[in-house]
Formats: sequence, structure tokens, C-alpha cells
Amino acid sequence: MRTHPEPSAQEFRVISHLIRCRHDGIRFRSTNLIAQHCGINRRTANTVLQQLAQREWVSARTVSDNEAHELLATKARYSLATTPGSECEWCGAITPVLEKHHHPIKARDGGQETVNICGSCHAEFHFLTESVFYCATEKACLEALA
Ligand SMILES: [Zn+2]
Ligand SMILES: [Zn+2]
Repeated sequence: MRTHPEPSAQEFRVISHLIRCRHDGIRFRSTNLIAQHCGINRRTANTVLQQLAQREWVSARTVSDNEAHELLATKARYSLATTPGSECEWCGAITPVLEKHHHPIKARDGGQETVNICGSCHAEFHFLTESVFYCATEKACLEALA
């Protein structure tokens, strides 16, 4: 089964979803959202996606710490607080709650330096850097719908 080149029904559902995403201009989608949209649990989605990646039906990518920081630094500014608060070092939002985050070196890698960022940037950073994103390959677009 593992080496069989043709996708199973469940795999086909995942591929079709990613092909639709690609047509809608969404190149990469997180495992979480794929699982949600295909009605399967995250662990199953993970296994299915890894097997599809091995057979080149989907390609995977991850986001590095620096890439995530750049993405967050360019997102639109918004403000949660009406009274003056503190400014998020990354997105510039004025927020009553700033969170300390170890950057550019992770705390577990011995990083001492921290940045003060808003809860949104903090959650988004960890989501971006701790997720795997998938995209349907050219091969999938050509063959799965043939
Ligand atoms: Zn922020
Ligand atoms: Zn953090």
C-alpha cells in the first residue's frame, strides 16, 4: 500500500482539496487547516501528507524563524487598545499586553535576547515556525484530475 503509486480515496480527498486551494491562489496550507477542511484528524492528515510528499503528489515547506519575523513585521498595523500602551516591536500594534519572546535565538538553544511583541505576533510566530505547510505539485494537478 505504502509504495503503491495511486492515491487512496482518503489521499485523493486531500490532494483534491490542495488542488482547489492552488486554483484559488493559496499555494501552501497548514496541516491543521487541511485536516479541518478534509474532515480528518491532525495525526491522520500528517501521515497522509507525509506519504503523499514521498510520492511527490504534494510538496512541503516550513517557515524559518527569520522568515516568520519578516512576515509579521510587514503585516498591517492595528490597535487593540484605546488608551496608550506599549508598542509591539514587530508589527507596531499598541497593546496593553506585551509578551517576551526569545529571538533571534530560541531559549532552548541558549538564547538570552528577548523581544517584546503582542500576543497576536507571538501566537502567529509559533504557528508559522512550528507548522508544516503543503501544496499540491504540478504532477498532482496534471494527473489527479486526468
Ligand atoms: Zn505584533
Ligand atoms: Zn515565544
